[in-house]
Order: sequence, then C-alpha cells, then structure tokens
Amino acid sequence: MRVAPGMRWVVIGFWLVVMSLVWLMPNSMGRIAQWFVTAWFGAIAGLGLLVLHRLERTALLERRASAGRCLECGDPINGARDRCSTCGAVTRKAAGRGEADIRR
Ligand SMILES: [Zn+2]
Repeated sequence: MRVAPGMRWVVIGFWLVVMSLVWLMPNSMGRIAQWFVTAWFGAIAGLGLLVLHRLERTALLERRASAGRCLECGDPINGARDRCSTCGAVTRKAAGRGEADIRR
C-alpha cells in the first residue's frame, strides 16, 4: 500500500484545526471538556501518525527487497552474498535459508 505524500501533514493539520476550535474559538466547553477533547484527539492523531509511519516503513522495505537492495541501508547487494557489504546486515536470502549465523 502506498501512502500519499503529505498525509502526515493532513493528520497534523486536522489536529491543529480541532485544537484551535477547542482552545481559541469561542465555545461553550468547560475546562475539563477541553482537556478531554485535547487528550482524545491527540491520541487519535498520534495513532494516525504511527500507522502512517508503519505503512511507509513497510513500503520502503518492499521497494528495497524487490530491487535487490539491503533492507537496512538500501545499498545494492551483489550476487549471492549473505551479508551487506556496507552495513553488515544479514540479507533476506541468507536469513530465509537459516544460514544467518554461518560465517564462511
Ligand atoms: Zn546494508
């Protein structure tokens, strides 16, 4: 799944609009209700940002895997290597064979 660029700012903007309605605009909310709405919408926006982060991370790993690149650093992995020559991370191929701990 692809995350549209700028979705993070949509979530942050949504939260800012709600906060300005609660705290800056005239309304009939009491203090307790204001803090209640602040906490709930903060939790909702925070959860949204977390979900976006996970989706972007998953998409990044899928792009790297399908391009034959290291999942950790994104550098190209040459041939049948079991470890990335740049960062030393075990490649998915090696991990899938269960040979991650065998050093040759
Ligand atoms: Zn690497």
